[in-house]
Amino acid sequence: MRLFREQEVKGEYQNFIDGRFVASGGPTVDVYNPATFELIGRVPDSGADQVDEAVRAARRVQPDWERLPAIQRANYLRKISAKLRENVEMLAQIISREQGKVLPLARVEVNFTADYIDYMAEWARRLEGEVVTSDRAGETIFLTRRPMGVVAGIIPWNFPLFLIARKMAPALVTGNTIVVKSSEETPLNAFAFAKLVAETDLPAGVFNHISGTGAGAGAALSSHPGVDLISFTGSVETGLRIMQAAAKNLTRVNLELGGKAPAIVLADADLDLAAKAVYDSRMTNTGQLCNCAERVYVERKVADQFVDRLARRMRDTRYGDPLSNADLDMGPLVNKVGLDKVAGMVERARSEGATVVVGGAAADIPRGYHYQPTVLTNCRADMEIMRKEIFGPVLPIQTVDSVEEAITLSNDSEYGLTSSIYTNDLNTAMRATRELRFGETYINREHFEAMQGFHAGRRKSGIGGADGKHGLYEYTETHIVYMQHG
Ligand code: NAD
Repeated sequence: MRLFREQEVKGEYQNFIDGRFVASGGPTVDVYNPATFELIGRVPDSGADQVDEAVRAARRVQPDWERLPAIQRANYLRKISAKLRENVEMLAQIISREQGKVLPLARVEVNFTADYIDYMAEWARRLEGEVVTSDRAGETIFLTRRPMGVVAGIIPWNFPLFLIARKMAPALVTGNTIVVKSSEETPLNAFAFAKLVAETDLPAGVFNHISGTGAGAGAALSSHPGVDLISFTGSVETGLRIMQAAAKNLTRVNLELGGKAPAIVLADADLDLAAKAVYDSRMTNTGQLCNCAERVYVERKVADQFVDRLARRMRDTRYGDPLSNADLDMGPLVNKVGLDKVAGMVERARSEGATVVVGGAAADIPRGYHYQPTVLTNCRADMEIMRKEIFGPVLPIQTVDSVEEAITLSNDSEYGLTSSIYTNDLNTAMRATRELRFGETYINREHFEAMQGFHAGRRKSGIGGADGKHGLYEYTETHIVYMQHG
């Protein structure tokens, strides 16, 4: 179903390269509202030539940008965050329209993005090196942190504006320049972001944006020899392709990939708190969040009480088109591929013996990729639904007899991004932090990272990480100097 309003969607989107908006004149990608199926934009499907132009521009200006004192680079970042704060509503509407998240969450995304840029700007006065003891008389050894050079930021669709900042802000404050490729599902917010950047006096070429598909612009960017670091967020499959492309030039990669986060609910937990936190962890952004709770292990003694509490919350979830109803908890899934994937996984779980407590099917709404909030019990470790990322509003639950069993099952996963445990026993909580092999563990609270933490996955959830001091240093390389003197 298409409501085509050509005059509104044609020709208004141009890549931002070297401080200018550049008409591509080539093929385009259509962008749809996942809640209405309406065509809302038509953006350049950029090819290798535009990628090359953007990388060259970023390369040209990088030495000058690096030479600026870090505090001056930070001041440019603060001008960008100020622009975001002046345009929260406009940006939130765009994000909600192309991605489907509810407006309050879209506003949180925009404000959080501005805060994140400011947070990274604060590091300007805190970038430090080291002085190392020498074996020689009259020698000073010092290590400095230098920018990598040109960063390629490849972005997914789930928090599309925030992810631009998560890559751009640490890259720029440390002296890199950047070429961002937005997701073909949600490029419109990136065009709006580039327009706001263009309204500041950020030097041309420091930030560049191109739109296009993964196979086209994405592949060209990740295999470009002029790129020094590929900072990618997205699926494991694409992460593998990007590593292969990067291998040709031995380009460094930073990969933030998928997750299959376990939530462990023990018999001594506060069950009301656990049900609310697991619900929030699962349902934020319609379950389309890399650190979402993706599977629950609940101790047998409290399984029924916990499932009741969770099921009630799932049943009460209000969902629909976020732009026609302000009073919603959840919007649609991002596209048909996402909806079919979730529906297929639930169907297979059911046929393998899972019990549907709530939901279990696509929603009966004429427009939009809506799936019913779903709780599944009687799940087993060998089921696909307990092993593969669902990325939707579905919680499969497995009953366990001990914390040992829960931790063993949690660790038996190809993913290793986030995890959580609900218990009132300090010793059990501390034991879990030792034994859970994940980049993040949340104790008695929902899964959602802070900008000053370090968001990093183990195993197939990624290489390297983002946020905080450690995330910042991912955008630098070391330079050690041996200075012999009198
Ligand atoms: P995706 O991998 O399909 O796409 C992500 C980006 O990669 C898009 O811009 C796409 O165009 C590009 N791309 C696709 N093929 C490419 C190729 N061959 N070369 C270069 N670029 C290519 O992911 P998605 O569907 O947009 O996002 C959902 C996934 O992202 C989920 O698996 C989720 O867990 C993950 N994610 C992870 C984090 C994290 O921090 N770990 C955060 C958000 C999302």
